[in-house]
Amino acid sequence: MDYLKSLNPAQLRAVQHSPEIPLQILAGPGSGKTKVLTSRIAHLILHHHLPPWSICAVTFTNKAANEMKERLTKAIGKEKTQKRYARSIGLEGNFTVCDAEESKKIIAPLLKKYRHDLDAKDITLKEGTVLSLISKAKAKGLSATQFLRDIQAKSHGPKGSKEPFTSSSTVNDIDLVVAEIYEAYEKTLRKNNSLDFDDLLLFGVKLFTENHDAVKWCKHVLVDEFQDTNVTQYDLMRAIAFARCVTVVGDPDQSIYGWRSAEVGNLARMQKDFFSTEQILLEENYRSTASILKASLAIVAQDKTRIQKSLRTSHPVGPIPVLRSFPSEHIEASFLAGEIKRIVAHMGGVLNWGDFVVLLRFNALSRTIESALQKEGIPSRILGGHKFFERLEIKDLLAYLQIVDNPQFIPAFVRAINTPARGIGEKTIAELLSRADKSKLNLLELVEKIHDGKTPDIKPPIKRKLGSFVTSMRILRTLASENASPSDLIHRLVELISYEEHLRKTQPDWDTRWENVQELITFASDVQSDLQDSPSTVETQEPGEERPRDTPLRLFLQASMLSSEGDNQSKEGENECHAAKGLEWPVVMVPAVEQGTFPFYRTDDIEEERRLLYVACTRAQSLLYLSHATQRKVGGETKSKDLSVFVSAVIKENPALFIDRPSIFSVPERKKPDEVEVTKRVAEYNRTSRHRPLEYSTQYGHAYTPQMSSQGAPYMNFTSSGSFNLQPVNAAP
Ligand code: ATP
Ligand code: MG
Repeated sequence: MDYLKSLNPAQLRAVQHSPEIPLQILAGPGSGKTKVLTSRIAHLILHHHLPPWSICAVTFTNKAANEMKERLTKAIGKEKTQKRYARSIGLEGNFTVCDAEESKKIIAPLLKKYRHDLDAKDITLKEGTVLSLISKAKAKGLSATQFLRDIQAKSHGPKGSKEPFTSSSTVNDIDLVVAEIYEAYEKTLRKNNSLDFDDLLLFGVKLFTENHDAVKWCKHVLVDEFQDTNVTQYDLMRAIAFARCVTVVGDPDQSIYGWRSAEVGNLARMQKDFFSTEQILLEENYRSTASILKASLAIVAQDKTRIQKSLRTSHPVGPIPVLRSFPSEHIEASFLAGEIKRIVAHMGGVLNWGDFVVLLRFNALSRTIESALQKEGIPSRILGGHKFFERLEIKDLLAYLQIVDNPQFIPAFVRAINTPARGIGEKTIAELLSRADKSKLNLLELVEKIHDGKTPDIKPPIKRKLGSFVTSMRILRTLASENASPSDLIHRLVELISYEEHLRKTQPDWDTRWENVQELITFASDVQSDLQDSPSTVETQEPGEERPRDTPLRLFLQASMLSSEGDNQSKEGENECHAAKGLEWPVVMVPAVEQGTFPFYRTDDIEEERRLLYVACTRAQSLLYLSHATQRKVGGETKSKDLSVFVSAVIKENPALFIDRPSIFSVPERKKPDEVEVTKRVAEYNRTSRHRPLEYSTQYGHAYTPQMSSQGAPYMNFTSSGSFNLQPVNAAP
């Protein structure tokens, strides 16, 4: 079995561990946790003959999921990887998923209604805050009633309670208002026939705990980055893992989602809930050079509460990480951009633009870096939030399609009815909403009635204004009922509402936006062909059971909502550093390693900030840069900045962990090829070659195919002059 060959003994033990015994794999960064998880899936399928669809693998982001899919495809072949859709876990019907913006729209009027108590005390409360408090409650699995009970209990609790905040009357007032809004918000969601992102989990838990048939299909659950699951996610896992076959991997040192209610305590909970859970520790780091690992461990080791763990590497020492201060953020940014250019020039094609990452603690830092990169002509993209589905033009068009799919969905209606502008103001919209409410019609039915002249008390100008909207919706609904493809629907939609012209008139950057519209069409057709490719053998439907079929449009909308999930959550707190979790790059740069940034000035968990810096540093394979500007402009004002205590404490103890000048100036002069070059060459070879992939062995100092040996296979040798010598010996295709 190929996928077993490249594993070390501890990894092998984890992969071959009995599927019936719950397993926790705990280990530091780069120790192959994700690799082990992926190999274990392959093992379950190939050795234990579990059907692929009976395995539920959970990762944190779409990016991580894709990475896992890619690794898995390599191990077991494409035809064996299948996807299951939300529908197959029973979330049926035409419900819509609200994103944060839509949720805020629902919250706004409720906030107005319930905030009078706060007004009297001059307390401000914003929709975003309400939403994030509701979301935190949901992450803990608290319903509106439980949430209220909880705060009431706390406010009457024993004096001197250690709970933060609750002793302050301000927060208590806010909580009470939020509890009321929470209840009304839930009612509105159900009335709109919609769920928010947290509901997706909560409803999943409900479904699986109440209906054991729904989990029959699941034979094994595997969770990556388990340290960052919250209570509700844990409950969902427990509900699905009905048969107790669970494998989780995690690293408490990398827990960085406390602000999103993640619970490291889930590791202990699992040991209680899943009797006889076993643990396997992995101790060898395969990602980073020894000097990067040493510096990173020194950073996290400053947390005295942390449980010591051993982590070693057999990689070469490698260049010492760079730590450097600059007089301003602009000089810092241009240094980093200059370094990228210099290294790429020196590494003669071995390292390319895509091998560098700049990890930022918060999004606003990106502007300076982006412009420095641009000045140097370095292409770049933003990793933290590919905010595609948050863009105005995308939301406009999706709103129309959402109404076609679910005419009860109010936020989409409010958005679409006056986009492009039809002279329908807020007053008219409010009037329509209240009429719809009274008449028990959905909004679409109502405007159709008005347009058709069946409501004599509505003024003719309004009827006229509604004309083009009603016509467009009728055409779209007819097309959708004939199962038109989503990409055709979007084509037709932009024609019907003259959307290109609308963008031209209203948006200065209309051309990039129009490109995004084209990209949405591409996305729609990709989803369509994905669906056609995926076999329908994963039906869980009992014979004779009636279930509405998902239309192509609904499947497309579901796909687009799931794609926007990361974006949605990236709004508050999330940034490139968080998004980089589980990933790796040859060169990692972390600017603004300053007080106020690391730790972030708004944080209430210093240790979590330290771990975040640790996660950032441990993404690096060969080169690591930390930098600091002594002066930085924040909100238009220049401020002095001190080096982060996370780093200053470390260099006080051991100044040799960092240097302030990069040590590799001239690669061609080096005698022995560097790890970076070797890894890159091997990767490049694997990308372009039709032969079996090579693996680099630090032990033997050359790359080889694990299955070669006697019969001979591609082989890459690294000579002492530093050049590469590729020998495809008797290459087996
Ligand atoms: P993180 O905690 O950052 O998510 P991880 O523990 O999940 O890290 P992986 O991403 O699975 O680590 O592995 C890190 C790198 O080490 C990957 O490039 C992987 O291919 C490589 N690796 C893991 N195990 C081995 C091994 N036994 N031999 C060679 N390379 C390995
Ligand atoms: Mg990982």
